[in-house]
Amino acid sequence: MPTVITEPQRPAIPVAGTNDAFPVRRVYCVGRNYAAHAREMGGDPSREPPFFFMKPADTVHVVPEGMTAEHAYPSQTSDYHFEIELVAFLAKGGKNIPVEKALDCVYGYAVGLDMTRRDLQQQAKDLRRPWELGKGADHSGPVGPVHPVVKVGHPAKGTISLTVDGQVKQKADLSDMIWSVAEQVSYVSTFFELKPGDVIFAGTPEGVGKVERGQTMVGAIEGLGEIKLRVV
Ligand code: MN
Repeated sequence: MPTVITEPQRPAIPVAGTNDAFPVRRVYCVGRNYAAHAREMGGDPSREPPFFFMKPADTVHVVPEGMTAEHAYPSQTSDYHFEIELVAFLAKGGKNIPVEKALDCVYGYAVGLDMTRRDLQQQAKDLRRPWELGKGADHSGPVGPVHPVVKVGHPAKGTISLTVDGQVKQKADLSDMIWSVAEQVSYVSTFFELKPGDVIFAGTPEGVGKVERGQTMVGAIEGLGEIKLRVV
């Protein structure tokens, strides 16, 4: 059927080392997901269930390897924060996916940033309002190319870091995640039917902070390369 407006463009993230792209459907993000200390063997009874929010799918866009992307400082904030995160891309979905089957859904992984208007997020928390103004700013989900599982496996350990103008701001290990990607996929699938094209931002370690125009952020995850952005 002809459309009455030009078809909106669906975000698609290039797959590393190919001419192919991964089309994005939905973007789920897990809230704080790193413990200060290594997770105890056999689970931790004190851990609370994870919580999730969503970013608009078109906030996700690629920052090609080896280049410095310009990242526009958004409107209506004076406290714009970086959050370095592992990002999982799903090629399969389902409802009530068991943890043991959850990783079968993952096509690949990338380095990503969950950029956040922290002042508006805090205001939303204080006023018990939704988070979209804080979390859904245009372009607030830059990611690197997708690295397929067939090449990189399922990264469960390795350094995740973010520097601003060469200064280390966030540095942790993927093994510090409280909820694994498998557990996140499984849990989200009890609330929503997951589908191919869904993307999960796996949470950020400690050390988040503000970034200003003119500063350069480099986010990196061992085995998944790095993304470089200059805030303008
Ligand atoms: Mn986040």
